[in-house]
Amino acid sequence: MRPKLVIGNWKMNGNRADNAALLAGIAAGLGAHAAACAVCVPAPYLQQCEETLAGSRIAWGAQDVSMHDCGAYTGEVCARMVADFGGRYVIVGHSERRAYHGESSELVANKVLAVLEQRMVPIVCVGETLEQREAGQTVQVVGAQLDAVLDALDPQVLPGLVLAYEPVWAIGTGRNATPDMAQQVHAQLRARLAARNPAAAAVVPVLYGGSMKPDNAFDLLAQPDIDGGLIGGAALKAPDFLAIIAAAD
Ligand code: 13P
Repeated sequence: MRPKLVIGNWKMNGNRADNAALLAGIAAGLGAHAAACAVCVPAPYLQQCEETLAGSRIAWGAQDVSMHDCGAYTGEVCARMVADFGGRYVIVGHSERRAYHGESSELVANKVLAVLEQRMVPIVCVGETLEQREAGQTVQVVGAQLDAVLDALDPQVLPGLVLAYEPVWAIGTGRNATPDMAQQVHAQLRARLAARNPAAAAVVPVLYGGSMKPDNAFDLLAQPDIDGGLIGGAALKAPDFLAIIAAAD
């Protein structure tokens, strides 16, 4: 059994006071739950995470990085900077980056390389739109998104990845994929990984994201290939985030 992993994607939310309350709430309620957990925060709050969470069971990280290392790239944040603040995870290729910032799968692959270079863990997001699902293209779309990353990597480094299946139509809509629907896609992703490196397929966590909430988390997390969650809205309230972590036990 792979250990469960629950990660909060705060997106572009937070301020120092609210973050302090949220992080304190999560730390206070974490108790003996078995799942590993982390928060991926806006870059300005990485330092706050390091100061608050160092030595705790809660890891932290970023939601994006540049594909470049340090240099003349105004407005960008490089992986080295996230690592400098103790970041462990970086979300890469989130559908909001692909949709609003025109990120291609090739760019996403280069960002994955940049994150690995700094010995952090990329959370590689894939997912189909409603139109693509209704056209029966889900497997093809998420497969192509994943293959673009796998093609860029030495198969030996694949155990260092986390994958996240985030159907675009489920993000922020209150309409989650059913456990069966998600399980089918997760199994496909794992099979694709196994084709490159069977040992990696056995250990890489495949997270589900898209309207995961306390009331649906248990059934999703009970699926054999759903190893955790990438949580948006529900990660902004300590009781909800903790309930999802508890559902992963
Ligand atoms: P919601 O949980 O708000 O649907 O967001 C999911 C997500 O995009 C996590 O990365």
